[in-house]
Amino acid sequence: MFASLSKAFFHALSRSGTLKTVASRYGMRRPTSFARRFIAGETVAEAIEAARALEARGMNHTLDLLGESVTSLEGADAATRAYLATVDAIVAAGIERNISLKLTQLGLDVDRATCTENLQRILAAADRHEFFVRIDMESSAYTESTLSIFETVWRLGSRRVGVVLQSCLYRTDADVERMNAIGARVRLVKGAYREPKSAAFQRKADVDAAYLEQAKRLLAEGTYPAIATHDETIIAEVKQFAAAQAIGPDRYEFQMLYGIRRDLQSSLVAEGYRVRVYVPFGREWFPYFMRRLGERPANVGFVLRALLSEK
Ligand SMILES: Cc1cc2nc3c(=O)[nH]c(=O)nc-3n(C[C@H](O)[C@H](O)[C@H](O)COP(=O)(O)OP(=O)(O)OC[C@H]3O[C@@H](n4cnc5c(N)ncnc54)[C@H](O)[C@@H]3O)c2cc1C
Repeated sequence: MFASLSKAFFHALSRSGTLKTVASRYGMRRPTSFARRFIAGETVAEAIEAARALEARGMNHTLDLLGESVTSLEGADAATRAYLATVDAIVAAGIERNISLKLTQLGLDVDRATCTENLQRILAAADRHEFFVRIDMESSAYTESTLSIFETVWRLGSRRVGVVLQSCLYRTDADVERMNAIGARVRLVKGAYREPKSAAFQRKADVDAAYLEQAKRLLAEGTYPAIATHDETIIAEVKQFAAAQAIGPDRYEFQMLYGIRRDLQSSLVAEGYRVRVYVPFGREWFPYFMRRLGERPANVGFVLRALLSEK
């Protein structure tokens, strides 16, 4: 209950133009500014630097050029070109080749066919340079269109691509089966968006229980699932289940967000598990940042302290 209220509150705040202006002014301007805890930087060079630091700690990464809810074809084309430039920058840097993107960034709200074409432009570059591309999942208004665009590119032969499913949604048991049936790679998350009762569990305990069951289905019947959570209890149960089923740590990976539970990220690596860190970067960081605050209101104290220390 508290979790969904908190998400609703921060969702409302994320629409405030004034707050966005203030945050954009102070959030990233110094290495110690508050948004840098969760966002690697505003440029691809900063994201690459963060990725190198993760590699040095034995971790994998996926780079996400922040942006969503693009409202024009020109905007969608610009975002696609920015992604293609990101692919080139990653190749030139010689770091691991893995990116995440959102379909509303590529024009899903404007024209679905163009969005699919933009995705195909990125997947063609991904194929050429042996990248893996993860399509993030946005709110439940986009679940079906995201999965069906994913299935379209999959049918056309793309294999260096995967999707995300959210355990908060009632439909996800069926979607896990649907993705397992075609052998798609799934990242399982709890879900970061404020969702209505008609679509999603409102109690955290229900979301957590669904997560664990779906993680087990993906481990037992899926293809190299990504268990994306910072929930220590769930992580412990996943490790136990995989070991009991003789599913080795090379058949799945844990994923966490940049700046969150770095201690847990390191301890999993030390135990021999694969850990991939989601590294967001770019100028459009405000909505992503507000979702992170909404997940854990204690983060607000951290932001306020950082703001007060800004000169
Ligand atoms: C790699 C990755 C990719 C993701 N991609 C998507 C996506 O495509 N679509 C989508 O809807 N969601 C995505 N998410 C977000 C996800 O849905 C959750 O909102 C987020 O992971 C928090 O849930 P949790 O599983 O960590 O569990 P929770 O029960 O929320 O948290 C467990 C513990 O993790 C820590 N924690 C969690 N969040 C924070 C935070 N913001 N700040 C500090 N500590 C925190 C706390 O210690 C908390 O007790 C992604 C998450 C990860 C890790």
